[in-house]
Amino acid sequence: MTSDSSDSCVRPRALGLCSGGLDSILSALVLREQNIHVEWITFETPFFDAEKAIKAAKQNKIELHIRDITPEYLEMLKAPPAGYGKNMNPCMDCHALMFRKAGEFMQDHGFDFLFSGEVMGQRPMSQNGNSLRYVAKHSGFADKILRPLSAGKLPETAMEQSGMVDRQRLLKLSGRSRKPQIMLAAQYGVKDYPSPAGGCLLTDKNYSTRLRDLLDHESQQRINELHLLKHGRHMRLDPQTKIIIGRTKQDNEHMSRYFDPQTDMALKVQNHPGPMVIMPGGGSKEMLFLAASICAGYCKVSETSTVCVKISGPEKDESISVLPVLPKEAKRFMIS
Ligand code: SF4
Repeated sequence: MTSDSSDSCVRPRALGLCSGGLDSILSALVLREQNIHVEWITFETPFFDAEKAIKAAKQNKIELHIRDITPEYLEMLKAPPAGYGKNMNPCMDCHALMFRKAGEFMQDHGFDFLFSGEVMGQRPMSQNGNSLRYVAKHSGFADKILRPLSAGKLPETAMEQSGMVDRQRLLKLSGRSRKPQIMLAAQYGVKDYPSPAGGCLLTDKNYSTRLRDLLDHESQQRINELHLLKHGRHMRLDPQTKIIIGRTKQDNEHMSRYFDPQTDMALKVQNHPGPMVIMPGGGSKEMLFLAASICAGYCKVSETSTVCVKISGPEKDESISVLPVLPKEAKRFMIS
C-alpha cells in the first residue's frame, strides 16, 4: 500500500488504530496536516475484519498494517476484567488489547506514539472519560496515546508537552453529534466513509448467544467453529454435541468452507432435497441418530416415511435410515 513516506525518518512517526470509520480517517488527517508521518494498524479476529480499514487506507493513501490477534483475543473474551456490553462485546478490554498490540508494534517499528479517532462522550459505555483512562492504563502505553479529535478536552500528553505535536491544531470534539465530523470530512475532501455502526459480531444478539453456548461447553474453541457460528440454525443436542443446519444455499456454501473433515461430521439426506447438517467434533451413535432424524425433518417428506441419511466422518462414511423429527419438535434444541 502507499504512504506519505517522504522524509518520514525526520518527522514524528505516529501509528493510528484504524477501524476504517470517519473518526479514524479524520484523526489521521489532522495529524498529517501537522506534517506528522502517519501509518495505521488494524486487527482481525473471527468477530471483525479489516475490510473497512483496507478501503480507508487505499482512499487516503495511508500505509496499513493488519494483524490477526485471535488467540489473545479469545483468552480475553472468556473473562474480560471490565465485563461485557449489552451482548458479548467486551469493548473496554477489546480497546485495551488493541492498544497494547499497537504499542508493541510501535516499539518494534520505530513509531513515536499511538493515536486513535475516539471522541469523548461519543459512546456512553466505551468512550467516556473513565473508559478512555481504563484503556490507556490497561494497554501499558498510557503516556503514548493521543486522541487528536478530543485532545483539547483531555489532559495534555507528553507528545504535546514536548512540542512533537502542536496541541493548538488538535480538536476539542465531544459528545454524540456527528455534525462536526461531517463538516470536517467536507473540509478535507473525504467523501466516501462507512456509517459509524456495525461490523462487530460481538454486538449481535444471536451471534453472542451461540458464542456463549460454545464457551460454556468447550474449553478450547477452534477458529472454524467461531466462523460457523455465523451461519445456519444451531442446536445443542447434549452437553458434548451440537449441530448446525443450513437454512439457505448460501448457508450451505459457508458451512462447507468452515467444515473440517479431520474432526467434523456432515449429514445429508439421500434421494430428497434437504439442508446440509454439520456436527462439529462428531458425536455418539445416539446423537448421530438424533441429528439424522432432525436433518430428515427438514426435508419435505411425511413424518411416517423412513429416510436414508448419509453421514461422512473423519474415519468412515455410512448411511442410516431414520424417521424424521419435525422442525417444531426439534425447536427445543435450538440455541437461542
Ligand atoms: S464493538 Fe467489538 S470491535 Fe468494537 S470495541 Fe466493542 S468489542 Fe471491540
